[in-house]
Amino acid sequence: MRITIFTLCFMFGNLALNAQVRLKSILESDDWLSTHKIQFDIRDNNGDTTSIPVAIIKGKKKGPVFSILAGVHGFEYPPIIAAQELIQEISPDSLIGTVIIIPIANLSSFYSRTPFLNPQDNLNLNRIFPGNINGSVTEKIAHFITTEIIAHSDVFVDMHGGDANEDLLPFLCYYNNTTKAIQTSKAKALSETSGFEYIVSYPYTIKDDEPAKYAFKQAVQDGIVGLSIECGKLGNLHQNAVVKIKSAVKNMLTLYEIYPQNHKSKTAVTYLNEQTYIKAEHQGIFVSDLVAGDRVVKGTIIGQINNEFGDKIIEIMAPETGIILYKIGTPPVNLNETLVCIGMVKN
Ligand SMILES: [Zn+2]
Repeated sequence: MRITIFTLCFMFGNLALNAQVRLKSILESDDWLSTHKIQFDIRDNNGDTTSIPVAIIKGKKKGPVFSILAGVHGFEYPPIIAAQELIQEISPDSLIGTVIIIPIANLSSFYSRTPFLNPQDNLNLNRIFPGNINGSVTEKIAHFITTEIIAHSDVFVDMHGGDANEDLLPFLCYYNNTTKAIQTSKAKALSETSGFEYIVSYPYTIKDDEPAKYAFKQAVQDGIVGLSIECGKLGNLHQNAVVKIKSAVKNMLTLYEIYPQNHKSKTAVTYLNEQTYIKAEHQGIFVSDLVAGDRVVKGTIIGQINNEFGDKIIEIMAPETGIILYKIGTPPVNLNETLVCIGMVKN
């Protein structure tokens, strides 16, 4: 098999067209049993530049296009490292169809060690989909992913972990989109085969002409099977999270019958189909003995916010009984930030 490495520009006019043509030609070619590694260069009108690394693994023959995105948030390391290891481990001769992997979508966030935002334009890549070809550098990244990756995909998996301050329970999530029932049932089946113990479904309430904002919500809006992995916490690189993510992806590929059976043990699944969010009503220091995965009971105190002297400003009460999906895991909190997200089972 062959491995090719290219750098292409995705800027204006013909250069953008060249990148599109190149990616499309690789996806549509009969060049099976090959791996392509391409850097797509991006430049905005402010002079900010970045690049997007894209690996395209073409298997033995035509089949589904399965896309995997990591590094939308550059401080979330387990998905980034898992994506890189998947590029190394998925051999074209064990694959049917095509796997596209973007290991680090937001290189500026990654190399500057900036949580959530791209420091070049201070935008959160996961709040601006579908992006804008004429926008700033982060908007152009989103536009590239929407038009060049999602548009060519059958399945789109966006991988995140707890950012620098986020304590997080590992979970799989998808949108309960009743207007696209077939795609929703496929996303649910992929979640169930992942090996993750917790599966979260979010309500899907946007119209087709509203901005999706989130990467995998964009895929869902565009009629693609979209879902997301959340694994890893507090900006750390835990090897067990990397292993868990890679196993989940391989299990999903196996379900689509495009990759050999991954070894997995049977996992009991807990479905959390509703969420409630506790917002910070004050800026201050958040103190809580609880961690992600802990069960909380409605009406009980789960923490407090102190002022800078350590005096209590307010106690935080659980508004529902459920499991902490994620919470702020470091002391500082700002007004209106989500302190805690509780996942619940509702019928
Ligand atoms: Zn993230």
